[in-house]
Amino acid sequence: MTNNISTTEQIPELIHRQKEYFRSGETLGLRFRLQQLKKLNKVLKKYESDVFDAINKDFKKSIFEIFGTEVALVQEEIKYFLKNLPKLMRPEKLKSTLVSFPAKNYLYKEPYGLSLIIGPWNYPLQLILEPLVGSIAAGNCVLLKPSELAVHTSALIRMMMEEIFDKSYVAVVEGGPEVTQALLAEAFDHIFFTGSVKVGKIVYEAAAKNLTPCVLELGGKSPCIVDSDADIDIAARRIVWGKFVNGGQTCVAPDYLLPHKDIKNELLDKISHYIKKFYGDDPKKSPDYPRIINDRNFSRLKHLLENGKIVIGGDHDAADRYIAPTVIDEISWEDPVMQDEIFGPILPVMKFEHLEDALNEIKDRPKPLALYYFSKNKKKQERIIRAMPYGGGCINDTLFQFGSPHIPVGGVGNSGIGKYHGKASFDVFSNSKGIVKQSNKIDIPLRYPPYGDSLKWLRMIFKI
Ligand code: NAD
Repeated sequence: MTNNISTTEQIPELIHRQKEYFRSGETLGLRFRLQQLKKLNKVLKKYESDVFDAINKDFKKSIFEIFGTEVALVQEEIKYFLKNLPKLMRPEKLKSTLVSFPAKNYLYKEPYGLSLIIGPWNYPLQLILEPLVGSIAAGNCVLLKPSELAVHTSALIRMMMEEIFDKSYVAVVEGGPEVTQALLAEAFDHIFFTGSVKVGKIVYEAAAKNLTPCVLELGGKSPCIVDSDADIDIAARRIVWGKFVNGGQTCVAPDYLLPHKDIKNELLDKISHYIKKFYGDDPKKSPDYPRIINDRNFSRLKHLLENGKIVIGGDHDAADRYIAPTVIDEISWEDPVMQDEIFGPILPVMKFEHLEDALNEIKDRPKPLALYYFSKNKKKQERIIRAMPYGGGCINDTLFQFGSPHIPVGGVGNSGIGKYHGKASFDVFSNSKGIVKQSNKIDIPLRYPPYGDSLKWLRMIFKI
């Protein structure tokens, strides 16, 4: 087979080879897994400046953001596994029960086999390589399908992976929806998808045909609530950062703003101040402000500018796929901008008087991927955390739940199925096998027929 998996006809043959390789048992040992993670770390260091160039070419993202939100996160994840993998791979001893005495109970984690990882374009390196790290750590073979929209990054990922891995172990297949559909027509042992809710449903349906375990990291509308007792200055600064980093093209970005009516004007003034402070009077000239990934997304976002009243920003330039950091006021829950995930640098603003009303509106909608709440009141903070199911979030900050190998990340319901990062990644890419190790020295006859009057003893053992 050539290194270039350019046609869908080659896919079944590649998958066959990868499954054969998994069966050889090569990927199972601790030493092997650690070696592969080290290779990955090394190749990322070797091609760091190419990574900066590729992602910058894809959507003018600054080196600072590429390092902080892509490269560093993958390397952190590798570091976590280099340290913790020996412990994670050990069978876990579980509590034993009297009923199976003198048996000992264990949990063994084993790789599924061949995992398919499908990535989105918005963090084109991190969102394909972080799952790869987890899958390698768990001992799987992997087929990667990066997003075709981040075309330069996709090509670089393939080049780097082909330099360090045999294709039978980790392969990269490039292409768009038709290639993904061809992959989904095959039977994998595990599927890990990051992308939109719409495509997530296609992936889930394909996985269902073979009952393949499937993780879906999806999107949705993530509310950002600012209460009357919040530190308004800090809230504004952290909201502007979380919303406009990556040009607003972040799955866990605050999608819309819900401030308390008493502090709304002050908050908007501060937001305006920080947009200027971060990106200057003309964000188009800022080297730190990214562009929209493609024309389709640009025109989708441009239409959203027709909602409500633009109070900050609103400038746009189709030739440059530029949309200024924009805040839109006078928005209602019924407006088009409030129907789907925005996924761009547009922040619609509503307001609330009673927190309960705001929460009820959110509860009426699909479960969010993230929720952010700004308040100094600890009781209210706890109330928000427990108010409804959502993927994860921050109190008095934005995005940071995503950047740590110690915090499981993922959605719930419409925003996704399954969590990853660090130990959660190891678990999500592993089959957990419960094992009972029984002794042959004692064989309590109670369980065997004829049962006679043994029921009373069984009741005693169960204490029921
Ligand atoms: P997308 O769903 O359009 O594409 C994701 C992947 O699916 C790509 O590799 C693409 O080639 C493939 N694909 C696209 N259309 C397909 C089809 N019809 N059939 C089969 N495969 C298809 O998503 P995107 O635009 O790349 O990314 C943006 C979305 O991803 C947003 O909704 C965002 O919230 C979500 N996202 C979620 C997370 C998370 O961690 N939960 C992270 C990043 C992005």
